[in-house]
Amino acid sequence: MYSIINKRDVMKKTIQDLTKEELAQSVKPAFRAKQIYHWIYHKYATSFDEMKNLPKELREKLNETYTVSPLKQLTVQNSKDGSRKYLYELHDGHTVEAVLLLMRDTEYHEDGSVKHQERYTVCISSQVGCKVGCAFCLTAKGGFMRNLTAGEIVEQVRLIKKDNNIAANRRVNLVYMGMGEPLDNLESVTKSVKIFADKEGMAIATHRQTISTSGLSSKIERLGKMELGINLAISLHAVDDALRQTLMPINKAYNIASIITAVKNFPVNDRKRVMFEYLVIKDVNDDIGAAKKLLSLLDGIKAKVNLIYFNPYGGTEFRRPSEADMHKFQEYLTKRGLHCTIRESKGLDISAACGQLREQELEGEV
Ligand code: SAH
Ligand code: SF4
Repeated sequence: MYSIINKRDVMKKTIQDLTKEELAQSVKPAFRAKQIYHWIYHKYATSFDEMKNLPKELREKLNETYTVSPLKQLTVQNSKDGSRKYLYELHDGHTVEAVLLLMRDTEYHEDGSVKHQERYTVCISSQVGCKVGCAFCLTAKGGFMRNLTAGEIVEQVRLIKKDNNIAANRRVNLVYMGMGEPLDNLESVTKSVKIFADKEGMAIATHRQTISTSGLSSKIERLGKMELGINLAISLHAVDDALRQTLMPINKAYNIASIITAVKNFPVNDRKRVMFEYLVIKDVNDDIGAAKKLLSLLDGIKAKVNLIYFNPYGGTEFRRPSEADMHKFQEYLTKRGLHCTIRESKGLDISAACGQLREQELEGEV
């Protein structure tokens, strides 16, 4: 019956939507949930038939109720720096992106043994489109379609690990910095955080996961109260409300002061800092006056600033800042004691600012 509607089982639930505890309630005896988690997250199974240590009847029952493949890979783009950007189709035909970022190449000793292994970070999407509507963001241009389920979020990482032969026990960092506003989909996002962290699953500790938000202050407060141990990144981009409002309309509802208060209330891991992302746009927010204000705004917060080069795309009036201005901005902050890095333009040649691959696909360029 399912195959008549859609080969990809639209009628079935996604098994990755379930926490291990939820799964344990629907399969008996409960230890089967552990086994299924192993098949899915350690062996990257794509069907229940592969799960040979489960009784045949259970495999059949699972097969009738669930799918293990909620996403289909449509395209992948390889960047010169090793980053890979994936476009996935959801069961209803919508598409989302996820990116594998290589933060460091494998380094070898002279005898050929491995000195340092590469470091993986996966950037994941939380919604199809976004309601926030930032002026500089390509994801915003297509409007908002829908929230992703926890399973659709989890599956992006599972597929990327499988496709790149990343062993289950290899350390991976996650950033919710793909398409969408994670805090506008708080329930599924926090559920995915827990599924990622499950020791029988991908075991990605919450301190290796970072949620990036445009600054929904009330949701930041709620997230903080959940005490997940997750890292927070704030997309600030401007230091006064008037400019921020033109770049990010959400600032009318949640102004800068409200964000700073929410951040001050947020539980931060002793060894961590709250990251403030600052998208630098030429002649808009790249002057030293802005750097000065940023410094006083973050006074008293265990913060680090990540300056991001605006990544231009067709049809935008915004421009990329010069390297000289970027370094001046950084230097102003670091000289005064603020941790500040410039985000390497990872995957720039594959237009890795999220939303850009999907846009090309919609316009038939890939
Ligand atoms: N909605 C969340 C998370 C997704 S956006 C947020 O806004 O934080 C992730 C990051 O990509 C944000 O910091 C955003 O400002 C940045 N971004 C959006 N468009 C960009 C572009 N054209 N060039 C570079 N970074 C961009
Ligand atoms: Fe949404 Fe983030 Fe893009 Fe703003 S920058 S429109 S919040 S995805």
